[in-house]
Amino acid sequence: MHELDIALTRCNLCPRQCGVNRTIGELGYCNTNSNPLVASITIHHGEEPVLSGSKGICNVFFAHCNLRCSYCQNHQISCNTKLWDKWIDNYDIIIRKITDILDQGIGMLGFVSPSHQVPQMVKIIEMLNQQGYKPRVVYNTNSYDTPATLRMISDYVDVYLPDLKYFDNHIAAKYSDAQNYYKFAREAIREMIWQKGTTLTIDDAGLAENGVIVRHLILPGHTKDSITLLQELSEISNNITISLMSQYHPTSSSPNEIGRSISKKEYDTVVHAMDSLGFYKGWIQNLDSNGYYLPNFDENKPFKE
Ligand code: SF4
Repeated sequence: MHELDIALTRCNLCPRQCGVNRTIGELGYCNTNSNPLVASITIHHGEEPVLSGSKGICNVFFAHCNLRCSYCQNHQISCNTKLWDKWIDNYDIIIRKITDILDQGIGMLGFVSPSHQVPQMVKIIEMLNQQGYKPRVVYNTNSYDTPATLRMISDYVDVYLPDLKYFDNHIAAKYSDAQNYYKFAREAIREMIWQKGTTLTIDDAGLAENGVIVRHLILPGHTKDSITLLQELSEISNNITISLMSQYHPTSSSPNEIGRSISKKEYDTVVHAMDSLGFYKGWIQNLDSNGYYLPNFDENKPFKE
């Protein structure tokens, strides 16, 4: 039995450390048993240019999550309480949907919110490999991962794409029900950099080959936390590739105090801090991105083309 499957019998895959036996249907915080639970498999053109390229990336959106972000842009699929008929829990169907997309000449495969379904993700990759498909794998995570789990997937992942959300514990607890978020996320990102280094390698087609891209979404009213996070990251290295995101858009469940998009002043403040700290690799989203990237998982194609 793979060590990841053993982890499911006393689940300690993520910092929640629920200790439940998911193989017999016991459920922890993420409300997900040991089967795969996939909400959508789709071509996405809106990721960073080195991930989407000209053809797009095949994104596998796992349903449910090990965080509970009150403002989640994917809240239709991530709130852990819903179960939609159209979600897929069958490996063969998942593989067929992925290969239908890879057969269109797309070589990038992104797993979105995989932290609570890491063994399922690995099984999907192994089944693809057995069929002769070797896509480049992107691990698109909220960073609430453990180094131990990340070490078990080092041979399966080419590009880590951690979203580093908060420095302040109170903010993390309030918006994501995640105690000690930064402590765990920092260790997770350190492990990713330990595995991949700080240099993101790019192939001749301009697509990411190997490395780490750290995302950060600026929240309204929280520029101080954004700047502290960037300072912390710069102490690891300012050679890290950063993707600074301004696309925050309030949802129906966003708390009142973050019930708006970020202002130009807030945007300029964080962009200036990023420049001042010496980061020189990555992307800064345009301020007018908010709303454009908001998905609707009711649709077959959740993102606007
Ligand atoms: S993956 Fe799910 S069950 Fe396992 S520790 Fe995390 S939240 Fe708990």
